[in-house]
This record gives sequence, structure tokens and C-alpha cells, in this order.
Amino acid sequence: MQATWSTSLLRRLRALELDTRPVHPETRAALNQRWADLPDVVKTPSQALGQHAVGCEGTHGVFPRCNLACTPCYHSRDANRVRIDGEHTRREVEQQMALMRTVRGPKAHAQLIGGEVTLLPAQDHAATLQVMRDAGREPMSMTHGDFDYDYLRDLALGADGRRRFDRLSFAGHFDMMMFGRRGIERPADEASLHPYRRRFTEMFARLRRETGVRSFLAHNMTVTPTNLDQIASVVRECRDYGFGLFSFQPAAFVGDDRRWHEGYRQHTDDDVWAQVEAGIGTRLPYAAIQIGDERCNRTTYGFLVGPDYFPVLDDEDPADVRTRDAFIRYLGGVSFSGTPPLALAVKVLRVAVVHPQVVLEAARWLARTARTVGVRRLARHRSVRPLTFVMHSFMDAADVKPAWELMQRGETATDPAVRATQERLQACSYAMAHPETGELVPSCVQHGILDPAENVELRRLLPLTVTRRDPSTAGTARA
Ligand code: SF4
Repeated sequence: MQATWSTSLLRRLRALELDTRPVHPETRAALNQRWADLPDVVKTPSQALGQHAVGCEGTHGVFPRCNLACTPCYHSRDANRVRIDGEHTRREVEQQMALMRTVRGPKAHAQLIGGEVTLLPAQDHAATLQVMRDAGREPMSMTHGDFDYDYLRDLALGADGRRRFDRLSFAGHFDMMMFGRRGIERPADEASLHPYRRRFTEMFARLRRETGVRSFLAHNMTVTPTNLDQIASVVRECRDYGFGLFSFQPAAFVGDDRRWHEGYRQHTDDDVWAQVEAGIGTRLPYAAIQIGDERCNRTTYGFLVGPDYFPVLDDEDPADVRTRDAFIRYLGGVSFSGTPPLALAVKVLRVAVVHPQVVLEAARWLARTARTVGVRRLARHRSVRPLTFVMHSFMDAADVKPAWELMQRGETATDPAVRATQERLQACSYAMAHPETGELVPSCVQHGILDPAENVELRRLLPLTVTRRDPSTAGTARA
């Protein structure tokens, strides 16, 4: 009896030690593997992949259908001929996340993405989020935002009226190239979508008031020559709506080529970023923390104090660069989101006990930042609101195909342009899982190469049962 009791206690203590260990050993192994697999060109001190994070994940082939029509659309032309099926979604997501869990370790961010996630019945949507959580994933549902509060409530609460989740993460995709939104079938410009952006965030504010379920909201926007010069006004107007992240995706020639209408390559990533900076009113340093390849991703973490935005790290300030280096050295791999607050506090405490210099570095950063923000400004506004800016530049399918084919044969391209594409694919920060082969593939490969055949197969597996013309088959949505 005594032996059983002490064995059980020992087991619990071991579990507690593991739960509060700064970095789980499987995460450490996944990070090391990620670093080893990165091309040399991105192995810089600022690189987050392999030093702090394993990368973001997304689902595929689970609900490809959508009821808006976008130009451009990243999904293949068969996507809208596949029936939404909750059981299929849950089963496939479970298998994909299980592979992610094996390769990428016990914690990661994953997007529940396909066509339009809210075409899934709320019960199935909720069950799928739970499947992702059970696999250690912090899920984010990707939507066009054209759904009602009742759906959100049904997602957040079970049939017994109790909360299924404490917190939901959603990314709402809003831009003027999306057609068929209720109330605004063909937006004249980005400004005309502001009431819809606001409506989206207000639904989540209401959810919090009425149920206590918190949320993290991202705003996604595809950029083409048509709306490039409207980015600044979107940022200016919507920064206080309640979004915690603004992500801009310069359009690429991917997916359904019937929906490619413009010269997407007329502007550069710098043009897009300059617009975002104009909107928030300050330089957005993105070289302090690099996620994958700079040709794919730019990220600035920061916060708002009243009307002013402050980046957390300035890549041109040697003191901030030193803080970044200390963060990666001592706290790299610690999962800050998705870890319960108490467990996170113990993890950080364990780091601080072994490396007390981390406390000194944090204090220095805090003092510097307080000086920059100014005590008066802080006292006047009394709130600090985190806000992140991201740009994700997908590649054209025509560029990805030859690079990927060579990579599949284990060959490195001699052509510099193809080689550059290979480097980006190797450093990809947004992967999708294929349990049937055990492979993780970059989202560019998924959408540019694999989606068409996958959706033809899904059409056979999940045929549409409607015989009359369904207006919702007019188009498909983007990631
Ligand atoms: S999905 Fe494509 S653009 Fe995005 S990080 Fe991966 S390779 Fe780069």
C-alpha cells in the first residue's frame, strides 16, 4: 500500500517537474532538428525558428468549401464541389495534428483553415478545436467573418450552456476583393468594410461580456495594386477595434487561375510595409526577430499606449539586440502562449534561478522602454495594448513547382532564382501535415501544387448532394 502511494506521488512529482520545465525535452529535440534543417542563409541570431519556435501549422483538405468569392483565391477550382462534413473534418484534423505532435513536439500554434470554417456546424467546429487542443495545439479559426453571433455563442458554449473554452482565437479576413459578403456584395473600397470589421470584433466583445469567454483576434488582408494605397487608412481606422494582430498578404499567383485579375507583382514587400508604417505612424522594425525567411515573413511585436505605437525591440538599437540575444539564449523555446499562467510563472522562475542575468536584462529593457514611452504618457492613458504587425508573402505556384520537384529528389538548384525558392521552402514557417506520407509540406506547396489533386479526390469522397444551383458555390476563400 505504502509502495503504491509513494509510486503515485513520485509519478505526480515527475509530471509536475516536466510541466514546469522551461522547455519540454520533445520541444527541445524538435527545435534542434528545425535548426539543423534550416538553410545557412537564415541561421542568424534573430532567427526564431529552431531557437525559440518550431513554426506555425495549418490544416488542409478538411473543409475546402467557401461561400464568398475572392480575387485572388488560393484554393483550387474543385474546392467548392466538396461537401462540408464534420466527421471527416475531425478525423482528418486529428490525424494531421497527431503527425504535427510527433514531428514538432507538444506545443505549437495551428490554424484551423480550409475554405470557410463557419460553414462547419458549430458543434463540429468546437469538437475540432478540442481535437487540436488535445494534440497540444493552440488553434486559430480562419474565417471571412460573415457569420452571426448565435453561431459564435453555439461554438463557445455547450448544449448545457457551459463554456467549452476559456478563450477562442479567430483570424478574420477582410478586404475589398472578397465578393458576396452579406450586406456588401461588392465592396467599393476598404473603408466601406470598416463597419463589417467592427461588427466582427464586437461579436467577440459581446461574447466576453455575456459568457466570459476571452478571445484573440487577428485581421488578415490580401494586398493587390487595387488596395495597396488603402492599407494605411485600414490600420489607422481599425487599430482600436480590438484586433491583436494585423497580417498583410501580398497576393500571389496561387490556386484558382480563373480568379487572377491583376499584376500582383507590380509592388514590392517594401511598398506594403511602408503603407503599414504610414498607418501606425512609426517605423516598424522587423529585423530583431525573424521567423523563417525575410523574403516570406516580416513581424513587429509592439504595443499601443493611447494613440502611439511602440515596438518591443528596435533592431537598430544595440541594447535591444542584446535583449533579444538574451531572450533567445535563456528563454528560447519557452511556450508563452498556451501555457497556464501558474505553470508559465514557474518556468520563468526556474530560468531566472539558473540564469539570474535574465532578470537584469529584463529590468534594463523595462527601464529603457519606460523612458521611451514616458511616464506621463503612461499615466495619462493607463493602458498598454499589445499589437503585432505581420506580412506574409506567399510565392507563385509557377516558382514553387520546379524548386519543390528538385527538393523531392534531394537536389539543390543551380539556378539562383530556383535556389532562392528552395531556401524559402526549407525555412518555411507555415507547414501542413500529410499523415499518409509522414511529410510536412510548406503551405506554398500545399496550395500551389498539392491542392488540385487533393480536392479532386475529396470531390469523390464528399460529393455535393444538392442538385439545384447553390449560390454559395460562386467562389472560394483565401488563407
Ligand atoms: S508558406 Fe511559402 S511564403 Fe509562407 S513561409 Fe512557407 S515558403 Fe514562405
